Amino acid sequence: MVDGSLSTVEAYLSAILSSIAPLAPASRKLADAEGCVLAEDVTAAVSLPSFDNSSMDGYAVFAGDVEGASKASPVTLRVTGEIAAGDIGAYRLVPGTAIKIMTGAQLPAEADAVVPVEWTNDGIATVEIYRPAGVGNAVRYAGGDAVAGETLLGAGVRMRPMQIAVAASAGRKTVSVRPRPRVVVLSTGDELTEPGTPLVPGRIWDSNSYMIAACAREAGADATRRSGVPDDPAGVLPALQAQLSHADLLITTGGVSMGGEHDVVKAALRELGTVSFRKVAMQPGMPQGFGVIGKDRVPIFTLPGNPVSAYVSFQLFVRPAIAALQGTSDLSLPLVQASLTAPVHSPDGRRSYLRGVLDGTKVTPLSGQGSHQIAALGRANALIIVPEWETQLPQGDAVDVLVLP
Ligand code: AMP
Ligand code: MG
Repeated sequence: MVDGSLSTVEAYLSAILSSIAPLAPASRKLADAEGCVLAEDVTAAVSLPSFDNSSMDGYAVFAGDVEGASKASPVTLRVTGEIAAGDIGAYRLVPGTAIKIMTGAQLPAEADAVVPVEWTNDGIATVEIYRPAGVGNAVRYAGGDAVAGETLLGAGVRMRPMQIAVAASAGRKTVSVRPRPRVVVLSTGDELTEPGTPLVPGRIWDSNSYMIAACAREAGADATRRSGVPDDPAGVLPALQAQLSHADLLITTGGVSMGGEHDVVKAALRELGTVSFRKVAMQPGMPQGFGVIGKDRVPIFTLPGNPVSAYVSFQLFVRPAIAALQGTSDLSLPLVQASLTAPVHSPDGRRSYLRGVLDGTKVTPLSGQGSHQIAALGRANALIIVPEWETQLPQGDAVDVLVLP
């Protein structure tokens, strides 16, 4: 049962995604395109490969000349030259002879087979051939990989190393892509101290801004962080506005709890009227805020302050939003089924995302499920999902598990 005043995780996510427009396409040098999403089709400018070539080091021959070759009665051919990869000379094979050829080198005119060096005595002036090579042996024909004009990569594909290789092989210097979103993370709270500086009682080291910026980078964004925006109602909005010119997405943490006057993020953004604050039927991460800010209507997430809540909220809501900014939905986390090695508890009416360790088909809930308990988060590789209507599940039950990146 989900309480009527709470949004479901799905409803909240779909409201977010419906208000995110993909970033405008831009031309990027191939070397800078990794992690971007193609906004055009990449087609083969020429056939791949563009010329017949050898797939092995060996000898280019007429297949007919080596038909009867065997170890007992080798065929001996005069070697008239050598062609290395990249050699653009015009070679012509005369019947009854061979030309030494390297992997990737252009097949000489008339040759119709390559005898691998392993089937020969590796001769220089003449070569002894011990096995027949049929027509086309060790030959990579022009167009055998792709033909000119063929679509190699479709718009919407993310440029990972394999796709970068394809675009380079197609001769592309630049590609039109939706770039990596520029994400700025701001942590708020008077209690925050920068790691590496001394701690006084009552203060904590800021982990959220580091964690969420790292999450955003892992999801393919270019992320920067700004730590410790003070709990000063007058300071929050200017601190956010100062980031707008270089952000495609803003993320804050803290300052959005259920009501106190220290909830400065909520107070500051409420005034704008373009950010809405919701309770989502989940644990951790019930208090959520999402909207837009500034004349360019930059999307903004206000994540809860507790680190585990912020982390889970990122993976459920911000990660898909980063994909949406690139016009795709390819960042969803793998969902698998596993059996619980220990019982779990969950509040009625809220979906729990419990930190766990997934090992094959078994998942072990970690002890320390408090939303401030970052030590347990550091041991987790998965989130165990307990549905809204369950309050406890016994050992051995099958559960859905989100695999963490
Ligand atoms: P808040 O939502 O601001 O009330 O914060 C909720 C809890 O999260 C408090 O215990 C905060 O101290 C903690 N918290 C807030 N921001 C951070 C942060 N950047 N790093 C670690 N803990 C934080
Ligand atoms: Mg706070």
